[in-house]
Order: sequence, then structure tokens, then C-alpha cells
Amino acid sequence: MAVHVSIHDVSPAWEREVDVALEMAHEAGVRPALLVVPDFHGRAPLAEHPRFVERLRALEADGHEIYLHGYYHRSRRWDDPDTRATREGGAAARLRHLFAQKVVSASEAEFSDVSRDEAVARLDAGERVLRDAGLTIAGFVAPAWSMPPWVLELLGERGYRFTEDHLRIHDPAGRRSRPSVVLNYASRTPARLLSSVAWCRLARPARRLLPARIAIHPADMRYALLRSEIASLLSWAAGDFAATGDALFS
Ligand SMILES: [Zn+2]
Repeated sequence: MAVHVSIHDVSPAWEREVDVALEMAHEAGVRPALLVVPDFHGRAPLAEHPRFVERLRALEADGHEIYLHGYYHRSRRWDDPDTRATREGGAAARLRHLFAQKVVSASEAEFSDVSRDEAVARLDAGERVLRDAGLTIAGFVAPAWSMPPWVLELLGERGYRFTEDHLRIHDPAGRRSRPSVVLNYASRTPARLLSSVAWCRLARPARRLLPARIAIHPADMRYALLRSEIASLLSWAAGDFAATGDALFS
């Protein structure tokens, strides 16, 4: 089955690591989708990095898809007034919030507990930044792949043809969805790093049954072990690369 490759957290904040990841991907003969964050952690607004933006335009012209990847890539704190709706959801909502923010994502899961108004505002703002940068948005991926189910409907209304979470790929406007295995690494702690390497080795055979995704994070590039794992993963998938995310549906 086809394998789609993407580079997450594409931002001037990770410029060097993104370059290393791109070089590896190009060597393997694939043009990964670029998951662009409009203003990573509120300290790397695209508009203030015209050289980086120009590079993104050149990469898009060369066949890389551009996906919107949140806005700040950072979640609200639990005690933020805007988190009220989640707080009123009671203990279960609180556990979900803690799980998404602390366990899964180190407070990166920006869309995991947004209100509808806030989701709309962030999508509006993010789309505007990428459009102003002269980029065409081919999909949306929530940071940490974490979003409430109703975001799918919202994306469908806005015409999105590709989004994904941990377990599935979705075509929100076309109302299609299908299971897909994702191979990615976690480098936050040594234990996670090793267990994610083990997971990726174990999960590889799933590709016989399901379309697969390889997600490269810029932070992975800081570890020699992950660089070599990713290089081997890319050569394992060579020949089966999907040119676009929505090609995984066919
Ligand atoms: Zn991300």
C-alpha cells in the first residue's frame, strides 16, 4: 500500500532541522507534505521571515504539498478563561485535557480542546497567513493529531480534502475516511525515543493492509538514532510513495 511522508512543525523556528529532514527525504526520492505552523509558539510569525516563505513557495512549486498545522502549535492552559467550556465538562473532560496536553503532546495539542469559535478564528487566521505567503493549502493537520470530532465537519464546510489523526485519514469535504497506520518517533524522553523506535519497527508490516504515513518531526533530526531510523524507513518505503495525501484514498 502507498506511503505518504510529511514533515511536521515547518516553521522558521525549526529551519535547520527542517532542512536536514528535507535533504533526507529528497535523497530517498520523496517530496513530503510540509505541515506549516503560521506562528510557532507565538515567536516565529511567517510574515517576519520572507526568505523562509520564499523557500516554501519554491518547495511547493517543486511538488511539496502545503498543509496548515494549527496556528501557534501550543495549547491553552487549563486555568485559561477560554478553557471554561472544557472545565464545565467535568472530570472526564479534565482527564481528556490532561491526557492530550501532558501525556500525548507536552502542551502542543492546540486544537484538542478549542471551542468552535476559537477553532474558526484560528483556521481563519492560519489560512490568511498561508494565503498571504502565496501558498496553496492542500490540507489541515491538528498539532499532535488531536482534535474534537466536530472539527472534521468544520473542515468539510471549508472545503478541505485532507486531514488526519493518529488512526485515520479523512477527506472532510468528500466525507471519506479510512484507517491508516502512522509511523513517527517521540524524542521527548530517552524511554519514549526507544519505545517509538520499537513501535515503528513493529508497525511496518501493517502497511500490507493499510495505507501508511511517515511523520518526520524536526526534533527527530537532533538524534543520530532517529536520523538513521528515518533513513531506513524511507528506503523501506521507496517506490511506494504517495505524491499527495489524498492519493492514500485510492
Ligand atoms: Zn506538530
